[in-house]
Amino acid sequence: MQTSEDFLAKTKPIAPERSKSFNVQESFEREIKGFDAKNPPKQELIDTCVHCGFCLATCPSYRVIGKEMDSPRGRIYLMNAINQGEAALEEATTQHFDSCLGCLACVTTCPSGVQYDKLIAATRPQVERNQPRSLPDRLIRTLIFNLFPYPNRLRTLLPLFWFYQKFGLQKLVRQSGLLPKLFPRLAAMESILPEITADSLQDNLPEIIPAQGKKRYRVGLILGCVQRLFFSSVNEATIRVLTANGCEVVIPKNQGCCAALPAHQGQEEQARVLARQMIDSFAQTEVDAVIINAAGCGHTLKEYGHILADDPEYLGKAKAFANKVKDIQEFLAKVGLTAKLSPLTEGELKIAYQDACHLLHGQKISLQPRQLLAQIPGVTLKEPVDAALCCGSAGVYNMLQPEVADELGQQKVTNLLNTGADLIASSNPGCSLQIKKHLRLKNKVIPLMHPMELLDYSIRGMKLNL
Ligand code: SF4
Ligand code: SF4
Repeated sequence: MQTSEDFLAKTKPIAPERSKSFNVQESFEREIKGFDAKNPPKQELIDTCVHCGFCLATCPSYRVIGKEMDSPRGRIYLMNAINQGEAALEEATTQHFDSCLGCLACVTTCPSGVQYDKLIAATRPQVERNQPRSLPDRLIRTLIFNLFPYPNRLRTLLPLFWFYQKFGLQKLVRQSGLLPKLFPRLAAMESILPEITADSLQDNLPEIIPAQGKKRYRVGLILGCVQRLFFSSVNEATIRVLTANGCEVVIPKNQGCCAALPAHQGQEEQARVLARQMIDSFAQTEVDAVIINAAGCGHTLKEYGHILADDPEYLGKAKAFANKVKDIQEFLAKVGLTAKLSPLTEGELKIAYQDACHLLHGQKISLQPRQLLAQIPGVTLKEPVDAALCCGSAGVYNMLQPEVADELGQQKVTNLLNTGADLIASSNPGCSLQIKKHLRLKNKVIPLMHPMELLDYSIRGMKLNL
């Protein structure tokens, strides 16, 4: 009998005659556990893959792990084999779906237009529903899914984190080196914990902030979960940039999480609940656009029509909402900056812009951030090698698969440093935390800012202290 391990050792599609004999034999031995009937990866999408392998070179998990089954092509073989009853949905196979970062680089690369994003989005909920996870895996996932998408819960823990950092416990834990040995995933979580400041505890943005000068647009702002707690300065800068460029900004108080985290991890029901809440919170705002300044959140917000595809009550609202969602850089590049920009330094300022996968591959936004930054007088943009390769953050991937994520983080930081830039610009809080961690591990000090913070400084005529 062919086991999933036998299948994984192969790199070619399974021959039809082998499939036949396998099925006959298999029916006498055990029933193979496959995908359930609820939205399995579509066979017609799987069949569009011509197995050319162009995607392998751009796949970060393949780059690090080096196995066919941890590449886009390998995972598509695997989906096909499970669909055909040739391999089982079991730990040996699901580990290869778990190793996918969901960065969507393969979607950009594929010359045949294979919609791997749809395939992996259909596969993840199947894994969550049908493959029991180990106890440690269940514990860490329960912690993540019950904490990160709920900013109010996360906020209640901030005093504890503050105490942990301020009174030397963090230093002690890191110096001892015990945590990674005992609980590697908890250690991975700890290693990206940003510095807790008084700003993290604040939740006092007004609901409506008027435009400066003539009002051009009325826009809504999504605050994000991690962004509002650990990068509140980015939200404040975004508001100032928008208002300085003629936008009235509306911030519904009852907005929650955009659902990116559960959606990327196949937690369908949680994602639907959060998406409905988000739509409802903007229902009465009558905004021209809904603005988001975090790449991963923006990608999910634009996918609400898919997330709520089976909900007849919300589908229309979800599509209308998704149509209004704009990444802040996409929006500003389209409507144009009207505020005057000043230099950020006395001389030239070299900036390496770090592409977030969910902007570059997920939303096809790469020129707009560069165009905006290049408008700041004195700025020169530097392009790192492998700019399109994931930094390893990938939502909560760096907590769930720390080894692969660390390798990618090291590569990314090396490439960014090699540009000789004075500063790194990043449009995603997850990428920012990952890059800061690996800069720290390399003992390198180089500022990292969101493009909105740079534009805000420039509009207000402030100089950077480099
Ligand atoms: S996903 Fe696209 S690039 Fe990758 S092997 Fe299939 S057809 Fe080729
Ligand atoms: S989404 Fe990223 S990690 Fe996953 S298969 Fe595609 S390129 Fe590889």
